[in-house]
Amino acid sequence: MNIEKQIALSGNEHGYWFVSHQGKLWLPRGDIPVGRADELGFKGLIAQPIGKWDGETAWLICKEIKSGMSTIRPLLTSSDPSLFYLAGRAVQLAEFYRSHQYCGYCGQRMTISEVEWCCLCNHCRERYYPQIAPSIIVAIRHQNKILLAKHQRHSKENLYTVLAGFSEIGETVEMTVAREVFEETQIKIKNVRYITSQPWPFPNSMMLAYLADYDSGNIKVDSSELVEADWFHYAKLPKIPEYGTVARRLIEDTIVLCRQYDDENRS
Ligand SMILES: [Zn+2]
Repeated sequence: MNIEKQIALSGNEHGYWFVSHQGKLWLPRGDIPVGRADELGFKGLIAQPIGKWDGETAWLICKEIKSGMSTIRPLLTSSDPSLFYLAGRAVQLAEFYRSHQYCGYCGQRMTISEVEWCCLCNHCRERYYPQIAPSIIVAIRHQNKILLAKHQRHSKENLYTVLAGFSEIGETVEMTVAREVFEETQIKIKNVRYITSQPWPFPNSMMLAYLADYDSGNIKVDSSELVEADWFHYAKLPKIPEYGTVARRLIEDTIVLCRQYDDENRS
């Protein structure tokens, strides 16, 4: 990929402006601002092109603005997911640059590479890349039911969703899927199929999404992670995640399989 350099803005630059600090993005009126740099008060600031949006340059400025800073979650439900992905790149790069000003080996100040997304130590020649943490998310079906869990972190909103967790070092993704499901619910699964992926910049995951079938065991929840977990008939689901999330996609895919199961077993 071609990386464009950071520049000091002359004021004439035009495009979409991704202004980010501490994992947040400037979303005045809930949207990415578009226009000329000087009209937005950005003349003289350091900015870097990080891609294109709607035929225009997408600029990153690493800066906090007094009001209008928000997480990028509102962009998740926009009609084109690539805007959410570009915003994810912006907030993660801004945090990466902020946390990699000095080399972790020799302590010297670093520079931003002009050929790839990385920071360079010109003293000891080390390179640092943005961290991306692989994680899995899996929907499990048993006949015409789906396993949904209320997570400790979602317990206030009474939201039920599928199981998820991070890969650990020295583990294949297939091992992660089996381990997370067993740790959280004590059940075993089979027929694990990869479906899709979604960059999830809260703060730096890459979610790999799977469908699986129940194999054996009785649900027994890990109470440090889950409030409860149960099998839900596909027509009687509790509150589930919104459209645009990969969790919702997996649940919708599983509903289709539950219906097929019913159709095949009715006749
Ligand atoms: Zn160094």
